[in-house]
Order: sequence, then structure tokens, then C-alpha cells
Amino acid sequence: MSGAPQLLKETGPREVFCGLTSIVWLHRRMPDAFFLVVGSRTCAHLIQSAAGVMIFAEPRFGTAILEERDLAGLADAHDELDRVVNNLLERRPEIRTLFLVGSCPSEVIKLDLARVAERLNGQLNGQVRVLNYSGSGIETTFTQGEDGALSALVPLMPKAESQEKQLLMVGTIANSVEDRFIKIFNRIGINKVSSLPPRESTKLPSIGPGTKVLLTQPYLGQTARALQDRGAEILKTTFPLGIEGSRIWIEAAAKSFDIEESLVNTTLEPLINRAEKAIRPYKDKLSGKKIFLLPESQLEIPLARFLQRECGMHLLEVGTPYLNKELMQSELALLPEKVRIMEGQHIENQLDRVREQKPDLVVCGMGLANPLEAEGISTKWSIEFVFSPIHGIDQAADLAELFSRPLHRHDLLNKTQLIHA
Ligand code: SF4
Repeated sequence: MSGAPQLLKETGPREVFCGLTSIVWLHRRMPDAFFLVVGSRTCAHLIQSAAGVMIFAEPRFGTAILEERDLAGLADAHDELDRVVNNLLERRPEIRTLFLVGSCPSEVIKLDLARVAERLNGQLNGQVRVLNYSGSGIETTFTQGEDGALSALVPLMPKAESQEKQLLMVGTIANSVEDRFIKIFNRIGINKVSSLPPRESTKLPSIGPGTKVLLTQPYLGQTARALQDRGAEILKTTFPLGIEGSRIWIEAAAKSFDIEESLVNTTLEPLINRAEKAIRPYKDKLSGKKIFLLPESQLEIPLARFLQRECGMHLLEVGTPYLNKELMQSELALLPEKVRIMEGQHIENQLDRVREQKPDLVVCGMGLANPLEAEGISTKWSIEFVFSPIHGIDQAADLAELFSRPLHRHDLLNKTQLIHA
């Protein structure tokens, strides 16, 4: 049954990735863009190790290293940055959009990347567009890097020529998932559908009062506000995770385009039937199991809703780094009464609660997974959910499978230990 969850808050030491991580999925989405981190060697290492395994061509990101002299204010970091950018653009003429990505070190020395971007835009004369946003780990978590990148793109979106209704999906999703959503929307009669970010960084969709926005990801509060300021309407609904969340999300678009409910139902019915069948074996594995979600990605609340309502899991605690009550309203309404939603993090206290409550599965950052596994607690990395195609009705079984995999591994390990005992 649905009801009011308990909304709690805590602050203290945190253990999360920084916003630079989002470059890994953003550069795959927009192959004509380049992400230049303005940071230290630590930032370069982070981004290389986060993305290293996924590089299949010349990388579309790099780091302009701030040396100790820059950090101590002894050298002019602006000159150095200009030199790096000019070299890069000479070598890589295919780059159409250059994102200068701020980091903790660039913020600490107060390097004004907005001013650098403005100056470079003047020099480059439209040949390449230079934008900036912050990926720093000071007070932010890794998914907010995408929020920063997308809100930097919003002012460049052309003004829609008419007030004709159009649908805009906002947030990076896999191209195959995007194609499937577009097909569904076309089938129910919504023909003008575009995405932010687009597949080509220069082909930004238009925006105006006829634009209806469906967020695909829950961590885009800043982008949502920027789109609203450009006249778009943000449709308040669930996020398209799981069968139910995706159905409600599609219905919200259909309603705003005055589309007959019966047409939506007949279009979605076969997809839902197929997905319900596909999810069954995972549901059997997950049902009745206890899960604890530590705060990291902001995907935790929609995932918890899916796990509880569609997979029968018992929610011990649902952590989230930030809680945007407005965007999360429809999700919160579907959670069970009194479930603990914990905004923020005090890592020690949270780990104490994990140990005390003995969950079957913990969703957490990579840094916490190994120590918890060593204590015999199964874990799932939250970062996997931003790299995997998990959105939509068709993907619901794959999403459930991601959670059942560690439980399966745990069972196998236990069996092996029993055999060798
Ligand atoms: S931006 Fe900050 S948190 Fe991220 S790698 Fe650089 S120094 Fe570390």
C-alpha cells in the first residue's frame, strides 16, 4: 500500500565519486564533443581509470593539468589553458563542442572557467563552441556532472518557431532505449520527439512554450529549472525504471498531448505482458529479500520503488544524496508508508545501521563494496545503473537481473564453501 514515507536527513563524512565521472557516459553519447578537465593529476587518474576500459577510439576527454606552480598562483593558468586548448583543436579538427570541466583544484584557486570559455569563443569565432561546467567533488556527487553539462547546453538551444506541442526527453539514456521510446511515442501519436543531450552536440533541439519535458534521470534538477526558464513544462511523473514507472511516465506524456487512454493501453499491453513474463524468475529470487540503498546516484528512490513494488523486496533504508521533493513527488507517493528515506550521508552511522539490520543486498559506491563483501554482505555498485541500459518497459527484467546477480553469486559462494568445509 502507498502512504507517506519517513523523510530523514543526516550530514557527516561522505564517500562518493565526483562529477567528473559523468564524462564517461556523456562522451559516448556525443561523439563530436570533447571534455577537457581542468584539474590535477588526481583528476586525470580518476577519469582515466573510470573510463579506461571503455575507450575504443581516440579518447574524447583529457585533462589540462594544473601544476603546483598554478595552484600556488605563481603561473598564469589562463595562458597554459589557452595553449592546451589550441593544441587540442589543431590536432582534433572534428571537435564541435568543447566542455571545460571544472574540478576541486580549479575551484580552489578560483579559476574562472566561464571567463575562459567566453574568451575562447571569441577567438574561435564559432568554429568550435566552448562551454564550461563544474565536475568538482566539493559538495556534489557523480551524477550531478551530467546536470551541469546539460544545463550549460540549455542556453544554446534554439527558440521553437511555433507553440506546437513537442516532447523533449532529458537525460542520457542508451541510444537503443531512446529509439524504443521514440517508437512508442510515435505509435500513440506523439511525432515530434527529441532528446537532450542529442547524439550530435551541435544538433540541439528547439525549445519554447509548447515543449513538454520528460526527465529520464532523477538527478537533473538544475537542468529542469533552466528548461522551465526557457518556457518548457516539466511533466511531474515517475522515472522510466521498471514496468510501472515507465508506464506512468509514458502516460504522463500521453495526457499532456491529449491522447486517448485506450490507445496508450493497447500500445503498451503487449510490452507489459512480455516484460512481466521476463521479470518473473528474477522476482522469485528477489522477493522477500532485504535491501539497503546507500546514497550515491540519486537513482535510489525510483530503484527502491521498482524493487519493492515489482520485485517484492523489503526496503530497510533508501539513501539519496539529495532529495528534490518536487521532482520526486510521484515516486515518493508510491513508496510504502514509513519507509526510511535518508537524505545526505554520515557514512559511519549508515554503515552501523547496515551491520545492525543485516540486509541481503546493499547498493553502494565502489569504495564501500569490497569492505562490505568481506563482511559477507552482498553488494551492487550504484554506478552500474548509470552505465547500463535500464530504462523502459522492455528493460525491466534486465534491471531486476542486475539486482539478482549478486545474490546468485552469494549463494554459489556459500555452496562452494559448504562443499569444501
Ligand atoms: S574533481 Fe576533486 S574529487 Fe574529483 S578527482 Fe579531482 S580532486 Fe578528486
